[in-house]
Amino acid sequence: MAKAIPQLIAGQWRESRAREFIEVTDPATQEVLALAPKATAEEIEAAVASAKAAFLAWREVPVPERARLMLRYQHLLKESHDELAELLAGETGKTLADAKGDVWRGIEVVEQAANIASLMMGETAENVACDIDTASWVQPLGVCTGITPFNFPAMIPLWMFPLAIAAGNTFILKPSEQDPLTPNRLAELLIEAGAPKGVLQVLHGGREVVDSLLTHPDIRAISFVGSVPVGQHIYRTGTAHLKRVQAFAGAKNHLVILPDANKEQVLSNLVGASCGAAGQRCMAISVAVFVGESRQWIDELRAQMAELRPGYWKDEHAAFGPLISQQAKQRVQRLIAEGKAEGAECLLDGSLCTVEGYPKGNWLGPTLFRGVTPKMSIYREEIFGPVLVCLEVDTLDQAIELVNASPYGNGTSIFTRSGGAARHYQHAVNVGQVGINVAIPVPLPFFSFTGWKGSFYGDLHAYGKQAVRFYTETKTVTTRWFDESPVTGPNMTIHLK
Ligand code: NAD
Repeated sequence: MAKAIPQLIAGQWRESRAREFIEVTDPATQEVLALAPKATAEEIEAAVASAKAAFLAWREVPVPERARLMLRYQHLLKESHDELAELLAGETGKTLADAKGDVWRGIEVVEQAANIASLMMGETAENVACDIDTASWVQPLGVCTGITPFNFPAMIPLWMFPLAIAAGNTFILKPSEQDPLTPNRLAELLIEAGAPKGVLQVLHGGREVVDSLLTHPDIRAISFVGSVPVGQHIYRTGTAHLKRVQAFAGAKNHLVILPDANKEQVLSNLVGASCGAAGQRCMAISVAVFVGESRQWIDELRAQMAELRPGYWKDEHAAFGPLISQQAKQRVQRLIAEGKAEGAECLLDGSLCTVEGYPKGNWLGPTLFRGVTPKMSIYREEIFGPVLVCLEVDTLDQAIELVNASPYGNGTSIFTRSGGAARHYQHAVNVGQVGINVAIPVPLPFFSFTGWKGSFYGDLHAYGKQAVRFYTETKTVTTRWFDESPVTGPNMTIHLK
């Protein structure tokens, strides 16, 4: 019988008193790995109360000391990197290489958090009026919360709590109920690094737990990453309760191919960016837009995609793993069937894929469509599987028009040898993260993760300087000191006419 995982409340790992639990399964075998509790109302109250009490002391800890906690944490995460990657691979089904990338991208944000002292410096101006100076101070908000998705159970929690805590806040993490083992381990390591009691809490559960956090009067800010409908719900509910909210949502990312591009680079990038991690990445390329003669490469793309096969995370030759759940797999199968029914040409169909030795896995093989139009559901909906749809246009401006008509704006990319065309694209396209001959342009943590349009609700983005502004508020202090000593220096008066 699988064991229930504990929650971190007031510095202690506590068994939940929940009556309901959610099964955490291995997506390749359906083995139940653990049970995630649905936190009770008392447990939520206890976590918020502990975070609120801890904030009073934590905000007074000098900023270099908070930075040192992050340095110790980074060291422990690096030491535990392989162990974390294996735990993560087991509960997500990701290949070990993908799992290591997930952990590593999170560690990079912790490195950014260790730089918090310089990120929290304010501004000053002398003599803003006679003998008066103004300074701005950057102060933490209070209790913040983070609600994270299944697809990056290390990286995305690490986008949130290290920077929030380094900035002097306390934090309540509610990870995805589908893979909560990795986030629990991340929290254990923060405690081991020396985080005082109450600075980080971890609660488990689904919608009900999230809704209690969204409406709790003692929570100041909400960070969310997940799907569009939930992101909209989080933003609406959180802001209606007068909280600061940043909500990162779904995507449909286009890669535009000009005929002058390097064909080999285009094809290998398209294959990796569409099928890597089974397409379960918010920055995955799910739409290829072939401009002019580049459309002739689609057959070769099909041949390269056909070579890929999914497999168990311990299989070194597997290109990607299973989908996270049977429900997710059935949803993608439904969309593939709709694409065919709506008249798209299915060049490669992975909907009946199997993997030897793992008959119960949520497998899907690489799937490729051409002849797709913007009205089809495979174009409109985020598929979140190893499915790539191809559209064909005659000019770069038609490609730009298509991308700009999409309600999403997370990422896009152009492949070309022309600097002028790339410059035109990067300037004209209404998408927050643009790659030029880079298929998945995820910025490193000294920048921010800047999705736009329907892929993001809020103002300040994740990590980088924007996240520090999200987790802090600015106090401006205007000062005048009366100089009681006799005036000895020159005294100049300007008479304005
Ligand atoms: P999801 O929206 O189902 O769940 C995300 C979180 O919200 C989970 O913690 C879940 O427990 C909670 N939740 C689910 N339903 C809820 C509800 N009705 N009310 C309140 N809370 C609820 O997302 P997912 O399936 O875990 O993750 C995949 C999605 O995340 C994809 O759409 C993907 O594009 C998106 N994503 C976006 C980014 C980005 O940066 N834009 C990054 C990663 C993933």
